[in-house]
Amino acid sequence: MSIFEKIVAGEIPCHRIYEDEHVLAFLDIGPLSRGHCLLIPKVCYVELGEMPAEVGAALGRVMPRLCSAVKAATGCDGVNVLQNNGGAAGQVVMHVHFHFIPRYTAKSPHAGLEFNWPAG
Ligand code: C5P
Repeated sequence: MSIFEKIVAGEIPCHRIYEDEHVLAFLDIGPLSRGHCLLIPKVCYVELGEMPAEVGAALGRVMPRLCSAVKAATGCDGVNVLQNNGGAAGQVVMHVHFHFIPRYTAKSPHAGLEFNWPAG
C-alpha cells in the first residue's frame, strides 16, 4: 500500500481540501510555499503513463477549480502545477500526484519562500 493510499484510507492523517469518488486533494506535509497541496487519484498508479484515461479525466475535471481555490484561499500571485514521474524526475512518493504550489511576488506578505525545480 502506498503512503498516499494510507492517506486515502484515513490511516495517515492529512488536511483534506477536496474529495470525490476518484480523487483527493490535501495540503502537502512539507510545503514548498504557503498553501502547497497535492491532487491524487484514490487508486495508486506509480506514473502518469500507467494511468487509465478516465482517471486522468477525473483529475483533470478538478484541476481548474482546485487551482482557483488555491489562489483564492492563499492570495498568492501565481501557481505552479508540477508532476514528477520516476526517481530521475524527482518523484519520491510512487503514487501519481500533482503538486499545486502557490507563488508569491516580492511584494506579497508571504514572499521569501523559494524552491528548486523539480520538487522532491
Ligand atoms: O513529487 P514527489 O514524489 O517528490 O513529492 C512527494 C510529496 O509528497 C512531497 O512534497 C511530500 O512533502 C509529500 N508528502 C505528503 N504527505 C506524506 C508524505 C509525503 O504530503 N505523508
